[in-house]
This record gives sequence, structure tokens and C-alpha cells, in this order.
Amino acid sequence: MTWVVRGELSLENAERLTDSVDQWADQGGAELEPVASYFEQADKSFIMEIFTNKKPAPGMLSSLLQTAGLVDWDYHVIEMENKDWVAESQRLLHPVIAGRFFIHGQHDRLKVPENAVALEIEAGQAFGTGRHETTFLCLEHLENLHETIDPVRILDLGTGSGVLAMAAEKIWPNAAILASDIDPIAIEVSRDNLNLNGFSERPEGAKGAGIALKVMDGVQPSLLAQEGPFDLVIANILAGPLMSMASDIIAATRESGVILLSGILTEQAQAVIQAYQALGCTLHQHQKAGDWSALTLTCAAKVTEPVNAG
Ligand code: SAH
Repeated sequence: MTWVVRGELSLENAERLTDSVDQWADQGGAELEPVASYFEQADKSFIMEIFTNKKPAPGMLSSLLQTAGLVDWDYHVIEMENKDWVAESQRLLHPVIAGRFFIHGQHDRLKVPENAVALEIEAGQAFGTGRHETTFLCLEHLENLHETIDPVRILDLGTGSGVLAMAAEKIWPNAAILASDIDPIAIEVSRDNLNLNGFSERPEGAKGAGIALKVMDGVQPSLLAQEGPFDLVIANILAGPLMSMASDIIAATRESGVILLSGILTEQAQAVIQAYQALGCTLHQHQKAGDWSALTLTCAAKVTEPVNAG
């Protein structure tokens, strides 16, 4: 079982509490293996979550909060069922149809409709089986972009299972695509999915079409020199990282290039749009599915100074 201590806080307090949880993890609370995380809401407040592997005693929590100077914090302790999320997502795997794309698991190989562009994805441990609205929205945007742009260099930042890089390669077979992820497991899973779908891996920096895979946190300057600037940057991550990486993402994009952002809760979309507009981008499309939004922007001016848009 996993327990979550959850409540609302300001950013400053969330940062302070995270520091206290880190200290707690090294000292008294070590056996609970506490992990802290927080995320921004539309009203700019933050939701703080502290995960533990055992139920935290009230005394433990109050001394933790005292260390952080947050004795009045209004929190709830929630017990979560431990699930094997990988197995779960594989069980729930139904084909996803987005535009011409038919994203399916192995068991649906025989159901591929005629004329569909099929991609076989095993969920593995990486996010991006196509079931999620955020991936679906990207596939739809890519289909729309097919009619208007012909990118030579594409970056799929946070590739997960490799699904969007492969979709982009199907749409623009001559493009040099770089699929990156901070998580080495995602890159391994993407490599397996590339093989499964008959794509060959392009060595990093090699000229010509194909998909290169790279473990990378955000956009690293060394890589830009080798692979960039990109005509199209796809990033299906989350509103927070998309805003804090805004200037890096724009710097990686060629002037007048296209940026496709996803993983954004609709209530956070305006903040993301503003962050990119403040850096000279123009919004072209805003599509929604369920609670999620995806944005297509073009970037007119180049950023000369990194700006902290977050
Ligand atoms: N592109 C896939 C997966 C999206 S999930 C799809 O559309 O389905 C988001 C992915 O971004 C995860 O695999 C996560 O590991 C990766 N990610 C998160 N932060 C990142 C960062 N700073 N740099 C690169 N990748 C990151």
C-alpha cells in the first residue's frame, strides 16, 4: 500500500516542505521512504503530495510540519491501492484511432483497418500507448500539420514509448527525428517499439532520415549543435515543465518553426500560452479532449536571453 498526504500550499511553502521531507527521508522517516512532489493549479496555488510506503503516524507528520514552519497546513491522508500499472494498462489496451493512425497492442494486429497507418505499441514501462488523451491530441495535431508543413528536423521531447516519433516518421518519411526522454527505460522501450514497427534507428548526429534516440533532460545545448535547430518540436510532458523549459524549447526551434505542446490540463492552458507568447510565439491551434489541451504555436522571434517563464 501507498499513503499520500495531500493538501494545498503556496509555491514557497511547497518548496519548504519538500526540503523538510528530504531531510526526513534521510533521518527519522527513512523507513517510510517519503517522496514529496507538488504541481501547480489554475489559480496558481500548488497541490503538495507526500507519498509514503507506510501510514505516517500523526505525531510524525506534525513534527515534520513543525520543521517546515507549517503547523496550520490543512492536509488529508489518503490510502492508495498498489496496482501493477503496467499490467493494468496492457489489460486496458484497446486500439486508438486518431486521424489515419491506428495504435494497437499485439493482440489487435489482425484488426488493422485497410488504409490505416498502424503502429504497434507494447505499453511496457513507458507512458505513451496512445490511449491517453494527450497522445491522441498530438496525433490529431500532427495529422493537421501534415497539410501545412514539411519539416526536415523534428524533436520529440519526452518520447515515452516512441509513439509520436514513429507517427511523425510515418507522416514525414524524409525527416531526421530525434526522440529524447529523461527516463532511460523510456528510451529502451522506444527502441523495442522502433524494432517492432520496422523502423531502423538513426545514429545520433547522422545525416538523413530516421529516428535517433537519446536519454536527455530537456534540451541540452551540445545536442542542439548536432541535431538542431528543429522545424518541429513536439513535447507532450506537463504544463509545469513546458513552462519552465519554454525558452529552451523555443531556442531549439528554427525561426518560424512549429511547436506542439501537450500534456496540459485545459485549466492550465492559458498560463502555458501566455508563457510562450511572452517569448514571441503565436498560438495557431488549441484542441481539447476530456480535461486536456494541446497547442500548436509558431515561434517568430528568437530568444536571445534565457527567460524564466515558469
Ligand atoms: N510522447 C509520449 C509520452 C508522453 S509522457 C506520448 O505522447 O505518449 C511524458 C514523457 O516525458 C515521459 O516519458 C517522461 O519520462 C518524459 N519527460 C518528463 N520530463 C522530461 C524532461 N525534462 N526531459 C525529457 N523528457 C522528460
